[in-house]
Amino acid sequence: MNIHIVCIGTELLIGHTLNTNLAFLGSSLEALGFVVAQETCVPDFPAVMRDTFQRELAAADVVITVGGLGPTSDDLTRGVAAEVLGAELEFHQHIHDRIADFLTCRGVTLRRDALLVQSMVPRGATVLPNENGTAPGLWCPAGDKLMILLPGPPRELQPMFTDHVLPRLVSRGAPRVSRRSLTVSGVPESIVEERVKKILRNCSTVEPAYCARPSTVDIRLTATPAETAFLDHMAALVVEEFKREIIPPEDGDVVGSIARLLTERHWTLAVAESCTGGLLGAELTARPGSSQWFSGGFITYSNALKTACLDVPAETLTTYGAVSEATALAMVDGLLAKSGADWGIAVTGIAGPGGGTPEKPVGRVYIAIAGPGYRRVFEQTYPGNRENVRLRARATAFSECRDMLLEASDHIPDV
Ligand code: AMP
Ligand code: MG
Repeated sequence: MNIHIVCIGTELLIGHTLNTNLAFLGSSLEALGFVVAQETCVPDFPAVMRDTFQRELAAADVVITVGGLGPTSDDLTRGVAAEVLGAELEFHQHIHDRIADFLTCRGVTLRRDALLVQSMVPRGATVLPNENGTAPGLWCPAGDKLMILLPGPPRELQPMFTDHVLPRLVSRGAPRVSRRSLTVSGVPESIVEERVKKILRNCSTVEPAYCARPSTVDIRLTATPAETAFLDHMAALVVEEFKREIIPPEDGDVVGSIARLLTERHWTLAVAESCTGGLLGAELTARPGSSQWFSGGFITYSNALKTACLDVPAETLTTYGAVSEATALAMVDGLLAKSGADWGIAVTGIAGPGGGTPEKPVGRVYIAIAGPGYRRVFEQTYPGNRENVRLRARATAFSECRDMLLEASDHIPDV
């Protein structure tokens, strides 16, 4: 079953609204093995909408439209879709009453004509209830094809899609694909591909795809449902190849692994941040239950505060500079001493755009990580702007921390 999505709204094209509905629909459908083959985004212009609906209906088995079902004059999806489907619009009293009730409960009055518009249904369509707003969704059969009209506000679209659209799509029993997703930490994208290719070299039924993120790479393996057992076998070989470079699914991501490893050993972690300015602490405290293993942190941006909070010697700062291996190590030493945590991460770097020198360019970051019997420093030089440097520094810090915790867990006997 070939699914195409059409997102409607000028606000999406001019960047006023981020198209989060596409991400939601794509991931929800993918999770059940449906294939979204294409997406088109169009403005609130009826002529463009008409052309697009016609073309998409000809090309796909299922067309899902999002947006333009609201009460304002630029919400034209219902009318244009009815025209393309060749289905007359009919007034549904129960929708009218439902919307009137919904609005009365909230003390809102809607113009009569706007209420009428939202009560119209293309003949033959099934009404999908909207528990969180006014416009219902519309499930419109078109011969052996299907057009599904959904409202734009994410809080309305998401429950409607999960509760009323997905079960109906599943019960159509359409062909789907099988997918397995694996996440590899700390291996560059091209090396990941090389190693996966070797495993899949004589295999034409499993299709690999890759998505690089800061410090991790997602590997997606796809096959037909008939090949699911073989797909699982291949996925197992990939896990075997990367061993602990793979983030176990139950960890979710790198920080999930860190949380698990710290919890298992009853270890605590603290951070000392300069150029990341709290990004590490924010990410760690965003995890529910982090109070079990996160002690806290220092944001020591100035030299004075590095010395006052972390006992970084003034000579270290003047001799080697605030952005140096020596300072990163002094920061992590001071951090462990002051916090009493078992593990510490210290980050110092030049996020830019100013402050670079030929020896220490913008993007240079030193990350020191220390724990029982471990004390290492990593030098990195990241490309990109200030935000990119800061986010990559955070990603490397967590990825290296995960590696060291894994190593330490293997080498330090249970307490
Ligand atoms: P509409 O149904 O076109 O009136 O859209 C109603 C609201 O949903 C507006 O605030 C839109 O910006 C928002 N919206 C519409 N489409 C999307 C989308 N693809 N992603 C996120 N928000 C959207
Ligand atoms: Mg709109």
